[in-house]
Amino acid sequence: MTQLAKIHKGILRWYSKEARDLPWRRTHNPFRILLSEVMLQQTQVQRVLQKYPEFLKKFPSFDSLARARASSVIRAWRGMGYNNRAVRLRKLAGEITHKYGGKLPRTIRELESLPGIGPYTARAVSCFAFGQRAPVVDTNVHRVLRRILPKETQRRRIWDVAEWALPRRNAYSWNQSLMELGSRICVARNPKCPVCPVEKICPSAFKKHIAFRRNGAAEPGRNGIPNRIYRGRIVETLRDSRRSVKASVLGRRVVSGFREKDEPWLVRLLKGLERDGLVRIHNHRKKTEVSLAR
Ligand code: SF4
Repeated sequence: MTQLAKIHKGILRWYSKEARDLPWRRTHNPFRILLSEVMLQQTQVQRVLQKYPEFLKKFPSFDSLARARASSVIRAWRGMGYNNRAVRLRKLAGEITHKYGGKLPRTIRELESLPGIGPYTARAVSCFAFGQRAPVVDTNVHRVLRRILPKETQRRRIWDVAEWALPRRNAYSWNQSLMELGSRICVARNPKCPVCPVEKICPSAFKKHIAFRRNGAAEPGRNGIPNRIYRGRIVETLRDSRRSVKASVLGRRVVSGFREKDEPWLVRLLKGLERDGLVRIHNHRKKTEVSLAR
């Protein structure tokens, strides 16, 4: 048996016994699969487990999401963070409704041509909703592949390695099993090699140097807090307000020690949020006011 075949066997057998029963693994409905993928991109599974059924109850299809007001979708997204996703999802639903009659296209090329759908999401939907043999590489899968196949991942692009490592059958379970292993066992810091199903054949098992960190420039922010956090606080404050709020009042609610000189910075953040379709800025008697997008 080849090394790759042993890896397949070990991981797939472990997954068949240990897989968590998650609602998006009980469906092949394209809308439900896409929603779960978008939600899971930047939010912990536990939080998604709570919000996923709530959101589906309000918006069970592309059509219902496309018809909803932006403010309703942003409110329904409460607690998920990265609110841009709510706006992008609604825009995507509009495109699918108008261009494809409410049905998600099936080919990766068509999926990737849709707004907000990148290589990962296109392949995840293709595999999990339409049963295609497509590789899926998210952060977890990337890390697991780099550790179990270090030589291949040093020589080739990660997507090529993922394609090469895909078993001929069972692509769905293989992709899900890599994600599961990456999120529960082969975690970024202190991977749990002693309980890993491929511990005996993994070249990185028990190696201290395998901590996996993504490099990145420091995020822009203020007082050591990234702007992303302030953006989240602004949307959170506006969700509870049915009227527009003065920028100075909003500033005091979201920034501790907010002063008049901070207002240009705040307005820049607000303009960014407006460009992303999350808020509306109104200029009222030379004062800036803001509300959730309609
Ligand atoms: S043995 Fe350790 S490093 Fe290798 S895949 Fe398993 S958890 Fe990751």
